Amino acid sequence: MHIPFVDLSSQYRQIADKIEQAVIGTLRSGQYILGPAVTELEAHAAEYLGVTDSIAVSSGTDALLMALMALEIGPGDEVIVPDFSFAATAMTVLRVGAIPVFVDIEPQTWTINVEEVKKKISPKTKAIIPVHLFGQTAHIEKLLEIGETYNLAIIEDAAQAFGAEDADGKKAGSRGTLGCFSFYPTKNLGAAGDAGLVTTNDAAIAERLRLIRNHGQKERYYSTCVGGNFRMDTIQAIVITAKLSKIDQWNRERRRIAQLYSTLFTNTGLCGSQDPAIRIPVERVQSPQCSFPHIYHQYVVAAKNRDSLRSYLTSCGIETQIYYPVPFHRQPVFQPYVSSQDDFPVADYASKSLLALPIYPGLAPEQIEHVVQCIRDFYQ
Ligand SMILES: *Cc1c(COP(=O)(O)O)cnc(C)c1O
Repeated sequence: MHIPFVDLSSQYRQIADKIEQAVIGTLRSGQYILGPAVTELEAHAAEYLGVTDSIAVSSGTDALLMALMALEIGPGDEVIVPDFSFAATAMTVLRVGAIPVFVDIEPQTWTINVEEVKKKISPKTKAIIPVHLFGQTAHIEKLLEIGETYNLAIIEDAAQAFGAEDADGKKAGSRGTLGCFSFYPTKNLGAAGDAGLVTTNDAAIAERLRLIRNHGQKERYYSTCVGGNFRMDTIQAIVITAKLSKIDQWNRERRRIAQLYSTLFTNTGLCGSQDPAIRIPVERVQSPQCSFPHIYHQYVVAAKNRDSLRSYLTSCGIETQIYYPVPFHRQPVFQPYVSSQDDFPVADYASKSLLALPIYPGLAPEQIEHVVQCIRDFYQ
């Protein structure tokens, strides 16, 4: 049985009719960038997420870059980021000339460790970028408190968490100063190419973001601030809007798949002991207000002998991924921002132990059982 890591065909089939007609219409219209379809997506996304403003942009990376630009963060400023995330989270800080300050993650949810954040705040700190990693919200309530106390902006990296909720039932990316989303095709809400979104509840920031998106132009060929080409393609907006209508259904299906994985793993006895072979994901939030504490953009286990397990699974036809093999503090580009006293034991552990298993709407129970069976065989 071959099990791909991700397969978008089942999702696409559910919305193909809607998309294909509209895309052909767009191709015939000659209007390929921004336009009414993008405005419509922005309205739907703002309503779904519960924010006053949403700005459709060219990618998740650009969303983060624009957020930093909108806050005028630059040389001399420090921005606190988790040591363990996708490159864009820390790279965009470098791109505006600011200093990334790395903080270790929590041992069960792999999101930024709030106690460690407090230790790294200095007079130069301007912002914190929590990452809602793998689809689970970081400890946003505590981070908002810290932001308030120290007058720091909170830029939520919600690239992996469209539709996830915190303990108050608020959507990831809706409570910080800014929220940043990616619609990279394999994200849980994905376009047919690169696209992203920035959200805010601050009208002045929203206005600046719209200027930044298009070379700072208030009127055509009249720039009032530094900007760039961060515009979204019309076709991407059509695809994302169609998928947005299914997102709760698909996130629920991801949760069902995760639950089946976790039940089956528990039944194998592999995750029972003091020093288990497999650690299944842990959901921090248990609250009646919250239907989506984790949307399982990825189903990630901590596995003993991770690399041998992965090779074994490959030989069984099961594709897996490693997110992320090298924490920021070990990457050449970030060396100038790491001191010899810095220590990131959890990020180091995560980089050696975490393994992402196949998860996507349409993954069948037999396939999930097969994955767990093969993992059980490996450890026996
Ligand atoms: C995917 C991702 C991004 C970047 O999004 P792109 O659309 O690929 O530029 C940023 N942060 C995290 C955590 C991501 O997973």
